[in-house]
Amino acid sequence: MKLDGVHHVSSITGDAPRNVDFYTRVLGMRLVKKTVNQDDPSVYHLFYGDEQGSPGFDMTFFEYRGARPGRAGDGMVHTVAFRVPSAQSLDFWASRIGAEGIAVERSAAALRFDDPEGLTLELVVEDVPDAPLPADFGDVPTEHAITGFAGVRAYASRPDRSAGLLTGPLAFEDRGDGVFESRGDERGGWIAYEQPPLEPGIPGAGTVHHVAWSMPLGAEEAWQQRVAAAGARATEVIDRFYFRSVYFREPSGVLFELATRGPGFTADEELSELGKRVALPPFLEPYRERIEASLTPLDPVEST
Ligand code: ZN
Repeated sequence: MKLDGVHHVSSITGDAPRNVDFYTRVLGMRLVKKTVNQDDPSVYHLFYGDEQGSPGFDMTFFEYRGARPGRAGDGMVHTVAFRVPSAQSLDFWASRIGAEGIAVERSAAALRFDDPEGLTLELVVEDVPDAPLPADFGDVPTEHAITGFAGVRAYASRPDRSAGLLTGPLAFEDRGDGVFESRGDERGGWIAYEQPPLEPGIPGAGTVHHVAWSMPLGAEEAWQQRVAAAGARATEVIDRFYFRSVYFREPSGVLFELATRGPGFTADEELSELGKRVALPPFLEPYRERIEASLTPLDPVEST
């Protein structure tokens, strides 16, 4: 029983309109689900990804309007890494991101930059067998489109504390240098632990809330039992309607979720309609009027 890399990464934004603009218009991701935080329905939960909203490529944000900027510290993810097809793609993105007035840092195999709220993103070229999940929304050419998650970088002062849970019950492989890879039959992805800065982290806009790892639909109870048996304080299986989830904090402090690859975002909307209206799970539908009134108005996302 293995996990198939990153399912989604959930972060915090203080400004949904600017967030939508950056992730769709600039990065070419499709807004695949416009829904709310099921634990706090006054808050958006925005999902960006490839055309299908595939698990393996769901970059998500909770909007806490006007949230102050946070900063990553010990036990927090500080960078989200995505794959791109080639070194030429890194050139393409360096120029496209630079044209937005955003500073880019380029190395041979990676490009780093911050989103408008200071969340660091990294584009990498990786030689992996995973099916590409191209996000070619708008005018982003498919040949350079971002193709899904590579992994996440987190700060941890004692990454050895996480090693046991990761390489044991979670079946990650220790790649050395603080890098642990989760690779199943479908896909793979990694978490890299790095030494934290001295300043403590502050949750807020531009910080990552949690990282979710991918499991097949139907495997959730078995994974929940496995994680609970390992002594991690796992939640029960929670039905998120679009997927089923188990949450726990790994020993370095990063909030992990295990999420199923189904039922998926077409559970309540046609593929062509994804992201256009506020989608609510059935238990929140009776409160639609009140919920919509509390959300930040968003312009429809136009493909240019
Ligand atoms: Zn999640």
